[in-house]
Amino acid sequence: MKYLDEFGDAELAKRLLDDIAASTTSRWALMEVCGGQTHTIIRNGIDQLLPDSIELIHGPGCPVCVTPLETIDRALAIAARPDVIFCSFGDMIRVPGSTDDLFRIKSRGGDIRIVYSPLDAVRIAQQNPDKQVVFFGVGFETTAPANAMTVKLAKQQGITNFSLLVSHVLVPPAIRAIMDSPTRRVQGFLAAGHVCTVMGLSEYEPLVEEYQVPIVATGFEPLDVLEGIRRVVLQLEAGQAQLDNAYPRAVQPQGNPVAQQVVGEVFETCDRQWRGIGMIPQSGWRLNAHYADYDAEKRFEVLDITTMESPLCRSGEVLQGLIKPNQCAAFGKECTPRTPLGAPMVSSEGACAAYYQFRRLEVSV
Ligand code: SF4
Repeated sequence: MKYLDEFGDAELAKRLLDDIAASTTSRWALMEVCGGQTHTIIRNGIDQLLPDSIELIHGPGCPVCVTPLETIDRALAIAARPDVIFCSFGDMIRVPGSTDDLFRIKSRGGDIRIVYSPLDAVRIAQQNPDKQVVFFGVGFETTAPANAMTVKLAKQQGITNFSLLVSHVLVPPAIRAIMDSPTRRVQGFLAAGHVCTVMGLSEYEPLVEEYQVPIVATGFEPLDVLEGIRRVVLQLEAGQAQLDNAYPRAVQPQGNPVAQQVVGEVFETCDRQWRGIGMIPQSGWRLNAHYADYDAEKRFEVLDITTMESPLCRSGEVLQGLIKPNQCAAFGKECTPRTPLGAPMVSSEGACAAYYQFRRLEVSV
């Protein structure tokens, strides 16, 4: 298929791999930030084709995985109410909360609807004026513009039975947290290309400067990932730390100003809990005071929630790149996509799901 096959060309991939191998003289640990990149790497065996001296550490860039347990439990509490139609993208449906998930609530009669756009939820709100309609707004900078636009539209049209349960997280503060961690091993980053498409590159310049770490905006097809790795390795071998763009067909240095404008109009920066990782200062977006009436957490008073994470789940270590998924004792045993103990086993961007899909027959290390 045009635009896909050309970025999976085996001959070009071999040339890039040869170039990486010829350039590598030391051991390097690189982190791919985004779970979509993790899936490309594991599905295509890219980590196994690289020189042994290059380690790919899987980062926390799976929004479903890092949505805090408190927020999942709040979603479940709201979704179970008889007066609510709860709308979500499909990837949140099986994410385990403390004792339940949206799928089970739906099986017990909860009105939970999988939608393909937050605007679908606004339309459902218009069609059901006697119900409260909530959209679960989860994601990195990539999904925020559409969610912001939806709330703005609802306010403009005077739709009062719609609200947003917001759990937006931001990539640059996560990179900062990883670099500040005493256990950090990462020497270079493949930044998430789609996030850069929205936000541009300038947010990464202070990180490159402060930590002297190469950051390369990278796409998601096999050749994109290999080119990102090649550029990071070349910088590391040359003793350089620069911001680079290996995804110019999508990423402009300034990003998408229209998307940034609507996000800035509707959201404000806040501290945010990351599931399995903990609090990262100024790492999230929430609705600002002008749109506070559309905040589902406030509308349904679900802030007082007690959570309980599975004691077996080591997703925090997976998300920080401290262990690989198949080093978790529950991997493929107590925890499978049908019986997930943690979000990384559910999400299409989760590292545990990627290993389960493509590596579960391998002996863990
Ligand atoms: S394999 Fe399952 S239990 Fe282990 S870290 Fe991943 S999600 Fe958690």
